[in-house]
Amino acid sequence: MISFHEARNKMLEGIKPLPSEKCSLDNLLGRILAQDSTASFDIPPRDNSAMDGFAVIAADVAGASEQSPVTLQVIEDVPAGKVATKSLKPGQAIRIMTGAQIPEGADAVVPVELTEGKLQKEKCKILQVVKQGANVRRQGEDVTSGQLLIAKGTRLRPQEVGLIASLGLMEVIVYKQPVIGIISSGNEVAAPGQPLKPGQIYDANRFSVAGQVKEAGAVVNDYGIVPDDLEAIKNILNKAGQECDVIITSGGVSVGDYDLMKQALSSIGQMNFWQVKQKPGKPLAFGHINGQPVIGLPGNPVSSMVVCDQYVRPLLLRMQEATNIFREQVTAYSDQEIRKQAGRTEFLRTRVQFIDGAYHAVLTGPQGSGILTSMVQADGLMILPEECGGVKPGDMVNVELFG
Ligand code: AMP
Ligand code: MG
Repeated sequence: MISFHEARNKMLEGIKPLPSEKCSLDNLLGRILAQDSTASFDIPPRDNSAMDGFAVIAADVAGASEQSPVTLQVIEDVPAGKVATKSLKPGQAIRIMTGAQIPEGADAVVPVELTEGKLQKEKCKILQVVKQGANVRRQGEDVTSGQLLIAKGTRLRPQEVGLIASLGLMEVIVYKQPVIGIISSGNEVAAPGQPLKPGQIYDANRFSVAGQVKEAGAVVNDYGIVPDDLEAIKNILNKAGQECDVIITSGGVSVGDYDLMKQALSSIGQMNFWQVKQKPGKPLAFGHINGQPVIGLPGNPVSSMVVCDQYVRPLLLRMQEATNIFREQVTAYSDQEIRKQAGRTEFLRTRVQFIDGAYHAVLTGPQGSGILTSMVQADGLMILPEECGGVKPGDMVNVELFG
């Protein structure tokens, strides 16, 4: 048997990056940037107002207070999107809206709340002192021209997409999305929506795994359910091998009479079967068909999800050249005793709470590999390393959060 890290490293070892392509703004979410993104201009491009109010010369209102307001002459109105045509001279103000460019001569904005006589067009009374630069957003305070904004390999979240848009770009270069073929296997496995015959169960894995790989930026080809029949399995694997970048199967990788995945894989491609020192997900198949990686997940719904999370997710992110391919871990206090033998890595479904400045982890009940509800209740996976021989209440543990 090999260790978890050894198995994962072997799997990631030969993974080649996909080519890159142009992608438009509205499809960028979750994609991985293939070129550094730098700014070609300052943002904001000019000093502009952070408030609705009056652009003034700060020195003019140095003595202003509610008791002795300073009255200024309003010479122009500048809504957002317009630029002042006049420049400000002492004793003057320009009515200005948030986002509008600061008029020449002005060096501060007095918020409308600190003025009086809103209805009086030509005059305004300033009721408070403002410092030079007050309520002015400086040119380039967000972004300066030439600055590296988003590094190659970054997974684009809504905020990165927004930043790209604010540079005026309609598209950027990202890595292609891997196309993942997903196949469920087992004579007992039935498609949701069909009536369940005696002895059958509904197919959960095709849908949970599809969700996981989509979250990792991939596109799914769904090959349905294949029975425990060697020829049928070989056919579907061959087809998927022609059409996909990665193939994921579930079920049929343990040591039962009907566990034919390994046999099918070795007869049409190259096959590595591993017994990994981990729980859940001890039996694991990894190989290649037509040069494309194939991962045979165990059939149990939790095992397949955990193996997909720990192996397939980083593999897909590596194919897209993502900088961070592993989830971040937090350290948490275990609020309970956990029995474990040293010698294998364990992944436990965990709920995490932040209490008094620290994370606390509690298991989500029974940890059987068929108990999918415990996955539903979980915020993440507690990862107990191979050498760990059990956890006492108050011990620190590592948790990978799902979200
Ligand atoms: P196997 O790895 O084929 O021996 O399957 C292990 C267990 O997982 C069995 O109880 C199967 O019925 C169950 N199983 C296999 N495939 C699926 C699936 N797609 N959805 C839900 N359970 C499954
Ligand atoms: Mg089976």
